[in-house]
Parts: sequence; structure tokens; C-alpha cells
Amino acid sequence: MNYSSVKGSIKKDVALSRMSWLKVGGAADLLFKPCDKIDLQNFLKKTDKSLPVFVLGACSNLIIRDGGIDGICIKLGRGFRSIKVLDDGVISLGAASQSSHVAVEAARSGIDLTFLRTIPGTIGGAVSMNAGCYGTYVKDLFISGEFVSRDGTPITLNKNEMKFSYRKSSIPDGWVLTSANFKSNKKNPELLNLEMGQMIENRNRTQPRGVLSCGSAFKNPSGAASSGCLSESNDHKAWKMINDAGMRGFKIGSAQVSTKHSNFLINTGDATSAELEELGEKIIQSVFERFGVKLEWEIKIVGNKLNQE
Ligand SMILES: Cc1cc2nc3c(=O)[nH]c(=O)nc-3n(C[C@H](O)[C@H](O)[C@H](O)COP(=O)(O)OP(=O)(O)OC[C@H]3O[C@@H](n4cnc5c(N)ncnc54)[C@H](O)[C@@H]3O)c2cc1C
Repeated sequence: MNYSSVKGSIKKDVALSRMSWLKVGGAADLLFKPCDKIDLQNFLKKTDKSLPVFVLGACSNLIIRDGGIDGICIKLGRGFRSIKVLDDGVISLGAASQSSHVAVEAARSGIDLTFLRTIPGTIGGAVSMNAGCYGTYVKDLFISGEFVSRDGTPITLNKNEMKFSYRKSSIPDGWVLTSANFKSNKKNPELLNLEMGQMIENRNRTQPRGVLSCGSAFKNPSGAASSGCLSESNDHKAWKMINDAGMRGFKIGSAQVSTKHSNFLINTGDATSAELEELGEKIIQSVFERFGVKLEWEIKIVGNKLNQE
């Protein structure tokens, strides 16, 4: 394809490990960073439709396999980071905005998006994953999203069309969320700041900090909030089952189950994606043997294993 009319950056064979929270993974065949929505539309219109498109957020919920990602990876940047307060508690958010930053900015205008304060990553990733914590999920406050489809057409989807469920939405493959509107209650900004401070404290108490991880690796079988939002009952919580299956601290190579929060898989240094994935599979097996429950990955595993290249 001739990319001469494309304004954003296009690079071949880009190492993705440095972008990923786990610091693992192979290369993207092609990485496109559009400068704005029109640029993204033009690019997608022109590309060969047989090439798969994968959208990268901040990679805080991804194990990118060691063999990398085929086709096209798209990463939104500065042109997709706007945060605009509209009327009536509605806020329009660029998909590349950092969720934690959104929470702080919204609070300044008295809009309660505090649940995003301790969730790493971007609004694109949060919407795609129906991210949530402390009893609030994206689905509760999402109104609509602006997308560019795989063939470059701009499309708006409303909340019902997103079919949100536990850590899931129904964004079609290759579609890129460019912005989303959320609506929330108005509250006193000082109160919102206080609540966010408590959330940070709670995280620091319950989760390992300063380590390479993607947060909770497995969904709670009960569907209860998983990522460190240790709420009422711990029955059927993934971390408890992993703990009770004797996997806390278990290691494969440089991949380890956290000793502080047993639903966190950690890269202790030079782990490979293969080691992290193997560790996760070992957990699934151990929990199944102990409880007869099959844990499901919350982290998304994408790309090729090395021997599949
Ligand atoms: C320490 C830690 C704590 C965490 N705590 C929580 C928590 O409390 N609650 C929670 O829900 N999650 C939590 N997570 C997981 C993670 O932060 C969230 O899932 C986050 O929303 C992912 O955002 P991201 O930008 O990193 O997405 P990525 O990991 O890059 O991608 C995730 C998915 O979103 C898709 N995607 C990203 N951007 C777009 C876009 N613009 N258009 C279409 N699709 C897109 C990707 O294709 C992929 O399928 C935690 C992670 C860490 C590291």
C-alpha cells in the first residue's frame, strides 16, 4: 500500500514489549499512530481488508505473546486525548485519555468518575474491557462511543449496542473507539478528591506496587469485582482460590504469582510471555483440581507464540 497521504506515523517491526505493562511481547508487523480521526479513517479505508487490525491502549491488560502481532496495530496518541465537559454531568473523553487523569479532571468539574482513578490504561481500554472497581463499571456511566470501523467508516454506538458484561464489550474486531461520552452525578469536588485519596490508599494496602503486572489476571468466578477491590465476601474470589490452591508466590522462570495479591502475575525481571502464560495455565489447573472451578483469564492474551511465527 502507498501510505504517502497518511499524516500519522507508520513503522514496521516495532517492539511492543517496551509499551506493555508487563514488559513482554514480540513485535508489531506494522504500527500506525494516527494524528486525528480523519487520518485514521483514511488509513483504514486504504488498507487491505484481509489484514487484521489490533488496537493497543496502554497495554495494561495484555499479554502480548513473544512472536508478536500480525497485520496492523493501531495506537492512538495526542490527537485523541481531549476531555470536554458538556452539559448536565456529561463529559466527552478522547479514547487515548488516561483513565486516572480523566477521574481527576472530571472531579474538578464536580463529575463523579472516581472509579477510574486507580484503573491504569486508557478510556479506549476501559470501554473495551468494561473496566470497573469499587462497585462502578464503565457500563453504568457510558452513554455512547464514536468509532471508526475496519473499513474506515465513522459509526456511533449507544450503550445498548455495546452489550457490556463482566470485563467485556462487543466492539467488533478491528474497530477503533475514538471518543466516548459518559454521564455521572454531580458532587462536591472536594468530596470526590477525598474519595479518590481513599481509593489510592486502599490499592496501596492490598496490591503490589512498583512491579510489572497487569492487575488481576483472572476473572472472579462469581463475577464480583476482582482487581484489588476486596469487597464484602471473599467466597469464590479468584485471588482466594489461587491462594488456597497453594499457588501464592509460585514461579515459572521469571514469572511469579505475587505474594501480596495472589491474582497478580508478575514479571520479576526478564520473564517471557510464554512463562507468564504457562504460569497462568498452571494456576487454572491447580484451582480446577482443588475446587472444580475453571478460572477464566481477565488479561487478554494476543499475538503469536514464538514457534507459530
Ligand atoms: C495494577 C493494575 C490494576 C488494575 N486494576 C483494574 C481494576 O481495578 N479494574 C479493571 O477493570 N481493570 C484493572 N486493570 C486492568 C486494566 O488496567 C484495564 O483493563 C484497562 O482499562 C485497560 O486499558 P488499556 O488502555 O491498558 O487497554 P489495553 O490493555 O491496551 O487493551 C485492552 C483491550 O482494549 C482494547 N482497546 C484499547 N483501546 C481501544 C480503542 N481505542 N478502541 C478499541 N479497542 C481498544 C484492546 O484492543 C484490548 O482488547 C488493572 C491493571 C493493572 C496493571
